[in-house]
Amino acid sequence: MANRFDLSGKTALVTGASQGLGAGFAKTLAEAGAKVALAARQTGKLEALKGEIEAAGGTAAAIAMDVTDLDSVRAAFDATEAELGTVDILVNNAGIAVTKPFLEMSVEDWDSVLDTNLKGCFLAGQEAARRMAARHSEGGEGGSIINIASVLGQSVIGHLSGYCTSKAALIQLTKSMALELARVGVRVNALAPGYIETPINTDFFHTPAGEKLVKGIPQRQLGQSEDLDGGLLLLASEASKYMTGTVVTVDGGFLVA
Ligand code: NDP
Repeated sequence: MANRFDLSGKTALVTGASQGLGAGFAKTLAEAGAKVALAARQTGKLEALKGEIEAAGGTAAAIAMDVTDLDSVRAAFDATEAELGTVDILVNNAGIAVTKPFLEMSVEDWDSVLDTNLKGCFLAGQEAARRMAARHSEGGEGGSIINIASVLGQSVIGHLSGYCTSKAALIQLTKSMALELARVGVRVNALAPGYIETPINTDFFHTPAGEKLVKGIPQRQLGQSEDLDGGLLLLASEASKYMTGTVVTVDGGFLVA
């Protein structure tokens, strides 16, 4: 049977690829055969990751991109197209969290979270979809957009009001995009990770609050970046060609507990 998860010949763009889950997604897509545009603001880190991917036999490009800025988003898609071809797969991964009690959230805190996590996905998603739809209208393939949501788009914990709101809204954006873009060959799905250990949160999970949280996960352990590979490759590839508007949750059972 042909490998329906094979991404050879495809171009993927991953936002927020300079560290954490985004860097992992980029490596996984490259291993599956895709040419990968690594997009973020810290281009030094992107160059290092590009070197790593190329050393393993893959193809990558380091692309400067601030997802909150329309001109920067457009320029990043132009640069990707010039270097690697039209984007077939967009992973809207760039995201931030401000951890503060609701009463202490400033307007700037709120705007920074919503601008990055929600508006960023709108800007990059619209830019990708326009290009995918144009190609589809000329008889070519459309594309797949994967929005990285979170279990906190479907549940809440304290001190993350902006973050939880942004991820819930991102799920609604995913469904709205899927509804409108199906006819132009563009699939849009969300991948919702549970608690995944990355360099920036590992300290928290060793505090009493973090340990309590892990005990509440039915599988009683944190996820690792590679635990998201199955969901990512499913949504990126041809294997999910009849899936759009869905939320694929990878959380060790967190949401059913
Ligand atoms: P990190 O903080 O490790 O990485 C965030 C990435 O986003 C960085 O590469 C950063 O790059 C990029 N980024 C931030 N702001 C911008 C911007 N304005 N423009 C472009 N890139 C930006 O986070 P994680 O890897 O942990 O999280 C990645 C995604 O996964 C997020 O959307 C997060 O909400 C989601 N998620 C994470 C979970 C976890 O447990 N880790 C669980 C559920 C969801 P740079 O600073 O170079 O621009």
